[in-house]
Amino acid sequence: MQRVKVLLADDSPATRMILQRLLKSCEYCEFEVVEATNGTDALAALWAPDGPRLALLDWQMPGLSGVEVCSRIRSQPDNPYIYTLLVTAREDRRSLLEGLGAGADDYLVKPFDSEELSYRLRTGLRIINLEDRLRKTQTRLEHEATHDQLTGLLNRGTVMEALKRELDRGRRGGNQTSVVLADIDYFKQVNDTHGHVAGDGVLQEVAGVLRQNLRSCDWIGRYGGEEFLMVLPETTTERAELLAERLRETIAAHSITVGDKHLNVTLSLGIDGTNAYEHSFVETLILNADTALYEAKRCGRNRVQRFGQPTEQGVISNADTRCALSAH
Ligand code: GH3
Ligand code: MG
Ligand code: MG
Repeated sequence: MQRVKVLLADDSPATRMILQRLLKSCEYCEFEVVEATNGTDALAALWAPDGPRLALLDWQMPGLSGVEVCSRIRSQPDNPYIYTLLVTAREDRRSLLEGLGAGADDYLVKPFDSEELSYRLRTGLRIINLEDRLRKTQTRLEHEATHDQLTGLLNRGTVMEALKRELDRGRRGGNQTSVVLADIDYFKQVNDTHGHVAGDGVLQEVAGVLRQNLRSCDWIGRYGGEEFLMVLPETTTERAELLAERLRETIAAHSITVGDKHLNVTLSLGIDGTNAYEHSFVETLILNADTALYEAKRCGRNRVQRFGQPTEQGVISNADTRCALSAH
């Protein structure tokens, strides 16, 4: 049986007792009754975290009236839906219209018929259950649209949006932002040797280890097949390099269990970041980090390379990389 919190707001102890008894005897739902004796307490109970989503409201109460409680609730349309039923002695048409106009979902005149109230509550439950299902679906769809299904990390579009936001924020606050692009070395061999399913397992494990080793304010997304993009707010490239080095060591030392196999992989990582003096574009940072990553690969893999820093082959630039790429 479904268990549901219901608010019972009435200043009359006798009415509260009758309603309480009725709710407790309900056959289709186990009601957990929260009582209030005035409108102010009623609203506070409804707005408390995990508060009731069904409300039986008396019209005339000290503090706020039931109608005022209804209109306050409706003024916050983004909150989870609260189904309100006004229970009142007022039976004239004007009052009915005023109650419904203030946002009450239903209206019941005292003395009420207990069977009728029970059915009307069931309508309320249906609405709440429907809203819960819609919210869950919405949350799931939002998650699917922004995350990579295999690794659970952000997808490429979302991590790029995060980078853009962090660049804007960093510029306003005068802070540096760094990006790290990491690519698994010889990943094709993992697939070729152990199969695609094992390859998927490796991707999931590497993604998890990277995520665990970042701060909660950092962003990480799956940028491509076996490539991950990390966005580090308020981080200089020097600090990003230290972090990337730690990630490289952690992954290299990490034994990945896939089925009955134990595998080891390494990462090559390219870094770039904004400097304090000039504006940086998303595209430039990514291109530079990719250039540095390419250099890390060229210099033997399982290494970290910062854009603009010397390698054994000298200082790298995008122009060098373009030449090297076109020479292949
Ligand atoms: P390098 O060290 O130069 O990075 O070599 P690599 O083998 O890692 O790079 P390459 O680009 O040649 O191969 C990447 C492989 O990643 C090829 C592709 O089949 C595999 N891949 C991409 N996405 C997935 C995925 O979702 N699951 C699995 N199992 N493999 C994937
Ligand atoms: Mg690779
Ligand atoms: Mg790759």
